[in-house]
Amino acid sequence: MSQLASSSKTSAGEKSAPTIAAAAKAVPAASVENSSLDLQQLPANAGLSTLAIHAGELRQKPGDSMTDPIFATSTYTFTDTASIIEFIRKKLPREEYGRYGNPSEKSVERKLAALDHAETALLFSTGMAALVGLLMAKLNSGDEVIFFDECYHRSREFCAKHLSRFGVVTHQVPACDYAAMEARITPRTKMLVSESPTNPHLSIVDLAKFAELGRKHGVDTLIDATLGTPFNLQPIPAGVDYVLHSATKYLAGHNDLLAGVLVGSAEKLEPVRKLRGIMGAINSPQNIYLLSRGLKTFELRMQRHNQNGQLVAEFLERHPRVERVLYPGLASHPYHEVAKRNMRGYGGLITFFLRDADWQATARVIDSVKIPRIGPSLGGVESLIEQPMVMSYFDYSPEERKGFGIPDNMVRLALGIENTEDLISDLTQALER
Ligand code: PLP
Repeated sequence: MSQLASSSKTSAGEKSAPTIAAAAKAVPAASVENSSLDLQQLPANAGLSTLAIHAGELRQKPGDSMTDPIFATSTYTFTDTASIIEFIRKKLPREEYGRYGNPSEKSVERKLAALDHAETALLFSTGMAALVGLLMAKLNSGDEVIFFDECYHRSREFCAKHLSRFGVVTHQVPACDYAAMEARITPRTKMLVSESPTNPHLSIVDLAKFAELGRKHGVDTLIDATLGTPFNLQPIPAGVDYVLHSATKYLAGHNDLLAGVLVGSAEKLEPVRKLRGIMGAINSPQNIYLLSRGLKTFELRMQRHNQNGQLVAEFLERHPRVERVLYPGLASHPYHEVAKRNMRGYGGLITFFLRDADWQATARVIDSVKIPRIGPSLGGVESLIEQPMVMSYFDYSPEERKGFGIPDNMVRLALGIENTEDLISDLTQALER
């Protein structure tokens, strides 16, 4: 992390590429299974694009294909009974049944682990499936989990409505209040959870403090780094146990699929892998191919997302119709200093509040933009815009929305990779109508 922190700014919203040498120390020796594969060899200090394009792939692929083939199969055949027994005994690197694995799923998992400088990655059908899989595999009745309260509303709902049915108690404490989190830790606490940046308030967790809290009390830590991405945020080298991404967002990057990934140590993730094989929350072979294809341009896309985020946030902050802008790259952001220490860039998501606007006036601005499409989600090449009060919190009471920090004049703008000047002139016309 220190290298990320010390890297200098080169252009809007982006710092120089870290060599991530410190992070590379977190990469363990290849597993026994991987060591028997002819994997693409890469230098220890390979950059993020080199990793995103080549890491985890076989050097020479089936059929001498350039790209990872789509293994459109539900089952895998054995030559004879002896080969089944050999597979069971020796755990040869091959597949048995689609719910337990697919060769290109493994390839993408190795790639995703490399991007996060983690030992292992586990791919799920969605980000929510990854969260549910982790918590169901790790928590037992009577256990407690502590969340920072700014989080994706379905994560909160899963804990409050469903984990509770299995006797797991969830506590919420204010985002980034480490003292409040520590005060809640008891011998029953099994997991500390936060997003970074948080959705949609974009608060930034001090990764060193968060990881230390877990270490000190012997409690596992999880960062949902969906908004951070491996380009901007590296929680594993900072000492966090698990990182979750909704790969639906920046990792896949094209608003055309859903997927989720968990990264961490092979040992800690093994029970989660086993449960995934039972839950069946896996991706189709075709989906895996699209994710792999999207990942190839991950670094290039992130550079433009970061540039668009920074420049559009600065534009909005200057605009008289805008009351306030939340973006970690702005000096006015409450967590700007932490963001500078922990992040390489600040992403494409901006939350802003319109001046003197009720929910209908806010909706009129949203309905007037021409380039961003109106819809939930983020991290794709196409920009998206939404009013959280309508999109995600319409069924909550005004008091509940106040409690979640979702006022009527809040706008969430998820910038894609269109040209910055086109986005700014479109927002200008929408704000000046
Ligand atoms: N985590 C965060 C921060 C999110 O924003 C989302 C979805 O918006 C999720 C997790 C869930 O991801 P998915 O939609 O892939 O299930």
